[in-house]
Amino acid sequence: MDYQVLLYYFYTQINDPEQFAAEHLADCKALELKGRILVAKEGINGTLSGTKDQTRAYMTMMENHPLFKGIVFKIDEAEHHAFKKMHVRAKNELVHLSLEDDINPLELTGRYVEPKDFYEQMQQEDTIVIDARNTYEYDVGHFEGAIRPDVEAFRDLPEWIRENKDALEGKRILTYCTGGIRCEKFSGWLVREGYEDVGQLHGGIVTYGKDPVAKGQLWNGQCYVFDERLVVPINQVAPTIVGKDHFDGTPCERNINCANPECNKKIIASEENEAKHLGGCTIECSKHERNRYIAIHQLTAEQIQERLAQLEAI
Ligand SMILES: [Zn+2]
Repeated sequence: MDYQVLLYYFYTQINDPEQFAAEHLADCKALELKGRILVAKEGINGTLSGTKDQTRAYMTMMENHPLFKGIVFKIDEAEHHAFKKMHVRAKNELVHLSLEDDINPLELTGRYVEPKDFYEQMQQEDTIVIDARNTYEYDVGHFEGAIRPDVEAFRDLPEWIRENKDALEGKRILTYCTGGIRCEKFSGWLVREGYEDVGQLHGGIVTYGKDPVAKGQLWNGQCYVFDERLVVPINQVAPTIVGKDHFDGTPCERNINCANPECNKKIIASEENEAKHLGGCTIECSKHERNRYIAIHQLTAEQIQERLAQLEAI
């Protein structure tokens, strides 16, 4: 384990995100890091991989930077890089909630709940735990009993909350996401909506999984991450599998994107079922003229015909 994967965010004020991004990219390349970083006027959000020395040098650079005093890194050991390239992009916002009036977490956010307290509070009555991620993330793993808002993307959460107001009123609300950045805004928005008791899991799921007291307990399945690892384990005490194969519903944790580049839907599928379906989430996607599975595996016309015939026979 000579490598490390870093995950971090920091809300701060970056006056010129474009210029900052260009300089930061040069710094990251000089350190030979790989990964993805977003920079906005409201702060920075990144995930990076590199050797221990490279990632340590990056953390020291950031900790000593006047804009990032107090930044916290989540660190995973790894055998190799978790990314192929290094990107630093300037954006309008770090996370997108489709709000008319955006939330500044430095001014308004939910109460931070440390992992061991989250573990206790989530089991109490009159407490509702809301998953603040996308449904495809929930489907590979989530907290026991957590609500899965039926939304396509994080930005649709506010509307979902407004539609489900009756079920939430008078309850303590706990929110969680991968590393904590989405909850900073989402919990702040809940407070602004008038909910009085709103807590957010401090440091997110990945911190919860490493906590010496919580030990990832009551987490079912794995945690989806946005790098080549795709998922990481969380529950150190009683790990389970909650993912289900898109094609046959059997327990599975293997994430793929549909091979139709125009669909690209995230699905869970075994290698065997992926091959059987040519990587397509539907028969239409399997047959798509630019099917990536066919291209990557250099299948012959005969092989394609054979598999499609089998699919159509089902
Ligand atoms: Zn598809």
